Amino acid sequence: MGDMDQQMLDKYRNNFLHEVEEKVDDGDWVKMCMQCGVCAGSCTFGPDWEHTPQKIFMMIRAGKREEVLTSSSMWMCTSCYNCMVRCPRELPITHIMHGLASYAHRLGLAPKNQPTRDFSLIFWENCTKTGRVNELRMTISVYFREGFISGVKKMWTLRNIGRGLFFAKRLNPMELFVSHGCKDKDGLRRALKKADEIEARRRGYAVQPRGYSS
Ligand code: SF4
Ligand code: SF4
Repeated sequence: MGDMDQQMLDKYRNNFLHEVEEKVDDGDWVKMCMQCGVCAGSCTFGPDWEHTPQKIFMMIRAGKREEVLTSSSMWMCTSCYNCMVRCPRELPITHIMHGLASYAHRLGLAPKNQPTRDFSLIFWENCTKTGRVNELRMTISVYFREGFISGVKKMWTLRNIGRGLFFAKRLNPMELFVSHGCKDKDGLRRALKKADEIEARRRGYAVQPRGYSS
């Protein structure tokens, strides 16, 4: 457990709901849930979740901090918004799921090797370097994230998609050496850094070094 997590734990001991209300995007909505189960029944990923949104909200109120923040459930959300349009209490469920995932990641409690989390980190790292996504490098990073052999197998399995992307000029081999990017890369880094500082101040976080460098 990291220092930041220990500090949070000391501050909010036995009051996980209060912690979520203060630290998680749209977390102050959780107390409005009346446990009707509509979101659980509407979720497109319902059978694949470890805990449905309804259960997550119940667990937050029951103070099950560790179980919620280490769960892979929030990372399964596909942002389809099915739950949000049906919730009779109009909770921003999708946003809360992403807020919880991001908070768990910030505390270092998010599950390791979770594919959606891995993809998010690779995507963020890739696109914030130059302001544009380098599809070739991102594809390689995603395919080879579990090792060389696994990467080669994935490339072979998906070779027809790769060929299609190459002929559509979406996978340019030269991008391995030189990335295209936006005009004002320094301006982009400054904007991202500022956004981090504002967010940290708003939520009372320590600013995390993100490596917005070329
Ligand atoms: S649909 Fe809304 S009120 Fe019902 S369980 Fe889900 S979040 Fe709670
Ligand atoms: S937005 Fe997320 S939580 Fe809501 S129904 Fe879709 S996948 Fe499930």
